[in-house]
Amino acid sequence: MITKEIYEQTYPKTTASTDTIIVGAANRSGSKTSSSKSSSQRGASSKASAQRSSAGRSSATSRPAAGGGTGSANRSASAHGIGTAGKKHAASVRAKHHKTKRSKQRNKLKWLMLAVILLLALAMLRSCFATVDVKNLNYPDYIQQNFIGVDGHSRTGNEMSRVNDIVIHYVANPGSSAKANRDYFDSSQSQVSAHFVVGLKGEVIQCVPLDEESSASNQRNPDTISIEVCHPDSSGKFNDQTYYALVQLTAWLCDEFHLGEDHLIRHYDITGKDCPKYYVDHPDAWSRFKDDVERFR
Ligand SMILES: [Zn+2]
Repeated sequence: MITKEIYEQTYPKTTASTDTIIVGAANRSGSKTSSSKSSSQRGASSKASAQRSSAGRSSATSRPAAGGGTGSANRSASAHGIGTAGKKHAASVRAKHHKTKRSKQRNKLKWLMLAVILLLALAMLRSCFATVDVKNLNYPDYIQQNFIGVDGHSRTGNEMSRVNDIVIHYVANPGSSAKANRDYFDSSQSQVSAHFVVGLKGEVIQCVPLDEESSASNQRNPDTISIEVCHPDSSGKFNDQTYYALVQLTAWLCDEFHLGEDHLIRHYDITGKDCPKYYVDHPDAWSRFKDDVERFR
């Protein structure tokens, strides 16, 4: 018979410990299983997670794809919206820029036109009111100043405030000299005079100051300079020396008084008198004379 003592000897209490250990091991095994299960579960979970991850990825992939599509569309739409607005804004800016540019160009043109008009007006005023500043004239050496006396007729002493034209005459006394004509003006018999007399040898005598009227050109005495020209015969044609001196003198006067060739006139152009005869008879020679004066300047 197995007693309690024999049993206990045969199966000491440590067995229980072993059992406990075994149970513990079993438990551990169970735990392991559990752990394994957990691992499996974790695996499943991991798989699920992977699936979720995959799903997530696919979702993430799909979402961005879908979202990307939508976003892209949205961005595209948005970009389109912004692009259209931007284009409109750019067009507006360009239009404003062009408008400003055109406005500036118009203003420039206006100022330019105003400047041209002012210059033309000044030129016209200068032409109409060319003042006689004889004190500052640079007289050439070939001019001999030998003024006639103030008698109230040949030399009135009337002040001439401006010079608009230069009048050419001929002395109508063939073969007479410049000195002889000057002396005649200065005589009591004379009622006439000229600012200058050009002689047969090309000499030039000034008989009246340029700031005074001469008595040669009727109603145009107050605003013209007069030149009487000697000639060898009744045709009234000037010889070469006289012609050259006349061209030289006239060119100098035109320069000093800022006059063009259209301001050269014949006595004939004022009164219709046959003076200077040769240039009334030969208008082409008159044109050549004016051209020669212009070329000499
Ligand atoms: Zn005349």
